[in-house]
Amino acid sequence: MTDPDLPLFFDPRRMLIGGEWRPARRSMTLRDPSTGAPLAEVARADADEIEQAVAAARAALDGPWGRMPAYERGRILARIGRLVEERIEELAALEARDVGKPLSQARADARALARYMEFYAGAADKVHGQTIPYLDGYTVYTLREPHGVTGHIVPWNYPMQIIGRSVGAALAMGNAAVLKPAEDACLTALAFARLACEAGLPAGALNVAPGLGEEAGAALAASPGVDHLSFTGSVAVGVQVQAAAARNVTPVTLELGGKSPQLVFEDADLDAALPFLVGAGIQNAGQTCSAASRILVARARFDEAVERMARRYRALRVGPAMRDPDVGPLISARQKARVEGLLAAGADLSVAAEGRIDADAPAGGFYVAPRLLTGAAPDHPLAQEEIFGPVQLVIPFDDEDEAVAIANGTPYGLVAGVWTRDGARQMRLAKRLRAGQVFVNNYGAGGGVELPFGGRGASGHGREKGFEALYGFSTVKTVAALHG
Ligand code: NAD
Repeated sequence: MTDPDLPLFFDPRRMLIGGEWRPARRSMTLRDPSTGAPLAEVARADADEIEQAVAAARAALDGPWGRMPAYERGRILARIGRLVEERIEELAALEARDVGKPLSQARADARALARYMEFYAGAADKVHGQTIPYLDGYTVYTLREPHGVTGHIVPWNYPMQIIGRSVGAALAMGNAAVLKPAEDACLTALAFARLACEAGLPAGALNVAPGLGEEAGAALAASPGVDHLSFTGSVAVGVQVQAAAARNVTPVTLELGGKSPQLVFEDADLDAALPFLVGAGIQNAGQTCSAASRILVARARFDEAVERMARRYRALRVGPAMRDPDVGPLISARQKARVEGLLAAGADLSVAAEGRIDADAPAGGFYVAPRLLTGAAPDHPLAQEEIFGPVQLVIPFDDEDEAVAIANGTPYGLVAGVWTRDGARQMRLAKRLRAGQVFVNNYGAGGGVELPFGGRGASGHGREKGFEALYGFSTVKTVAALHG
C-alpha cells in the first residue's frame, strides 16, 4: 500500500529499462523512518531484470545515444537539471519521507542534484584528448572515450546527491548507465529517471532498477556486460563488489565510509568552528560518509570546546523529517539497533551531553538521541569504527604530531578539517593528513559539486564530483599514425 500523501509523479512499482516503464515481477516495501509505517511498494528487480537493464544500456550505445555529439548530451543534462529545479519541493518531500532526513536538508539535496546536472551539462563537451610529440614520421594523439555500460550502486543516505555526481558524470562522458538504488530509499532515483525521460534522454542511456543488495546489486556487480562500476556504500559490501567485478576485470570506483576528524588547535577561532564541529556530526543524523565523528582538540582548549559543544547538543531537537528538526530518525530499525549496539559497547565513555527526542515523535520512528562522548582513547572501538549515527567523540591532543597521528590512526581516509590561524600549520597539515579532502577553517565547503571527492585506505579509491570524475568515467585511447 503506497501512502496517498506522497507527491508521486511516477509509478514506483515500475522500473525504467530501455526507455520503457516495466512492471517488476516482484515488489518490496519502503518504510517511513519517521513513523516506521509502510510508505510505498516499489519495484524489486531480480538478477534477470538487471541483465535486461545491462543489455538495454548496451543497445543504447549502439543507437542514437552512442552517436550523439557531446554538446547534445550536455543539453539534455541541462534540461534534466531544469526539470529537477521545477520539482524541488516534490523531490524534497519524497526524500524527506523516504530517508527521514529533515526537510530543509532534503531540499538542499534536490538543489545539489540540479546543480550536478548543470555542472556536468557544461562539462560534457570540454574533455579533450592530447596530441603527443613523438618520433619523426608519426602523429600521435589520445581519444577520451566512455567506458561503455556503467553500473551505479548507491546507498540510501544521500540518494539525490550521489545519483547526481555519479550518473551525471557518466552520462556527460557518453556512457550508458544502469542505476541500482538502495532498497531502503529509492523514490527519488525513480523520480530522477522520470525527469530524464521528460528531458529527452534517449532510451537505454539511463536504466533504473531498484532491488535488494544481495540480489539486484550482486547481479550488477557480477555482470560481464558492465564496463565500469561505481559503488557507494559500506566497506564490507564494497569489498564484495570489487571482488565480483575483478572476475570480469571490470574497473571499480569505491566511495566507502569514514571516521573523519576535525582538528582544533589552541589558536582556533572556536566561535567560527562550533557550528561546523557539531553540524558535521549530526547532519543527516550522522549518516554521512564524511561525518566528522572525531573532534580532536588541543588540551588547552579541550574543556571549553566540550562545554560549548555540549550546550549545542542539549538544544538539539530530534523529530519527524517533515517537521524539519535539527536531527531526523535513522533510516531503519536495523540501523537504529546497530547504533544502539555500538553505544552499548561505549558504555565506559562519559556522556558530555545528549539531544532530546520530541515527546510527541511517533513511537514507531527510528529515533536515536544525539550523543557527545568524551574519555575515549584513540584506539577505542568507538573512535575507530564508523558509527553512522548522531554520535561524536571529543579527544584531546598535546601537540601537532600527536594530532596528526590520531587523525591518521584509523583505516579510513575520507575527509579532515583543521582549525588554526597559523598559516604554516594550515599548509603542513593539509599535506600530512591522510584524506581525499582537507578543509581549512571550515568543514565541507558547502559540499560544492566542483570539488573532487573520494577516499584513501578503507574509504575507497577513485574520485567523483568535479571535473576529476569525468576522467574516472572515461578511458584513454592512444592513436599513433606512421605517415613518414
Ligand atoms: P551498503 O553497503 O549496505 O549498501 C550500499 C548499496 O549496496 C545499496 O544499494 C545496497 O543495496 C547495495 N548492496 C548491498 N549488498 C550488496 C551486494 N552483496 N552486492 C552488491 N550490492 C550490494 O551501505 P549503506 O548501509 O546503504 O550505506 C552506508 C555506507 O555507505 C556507510 O558506510 C557510508 O559511509 C557509505 N557512504 C559513502 C559515501 C562516500 O561517498 N564515500 C557516501 C555515502 C555513503
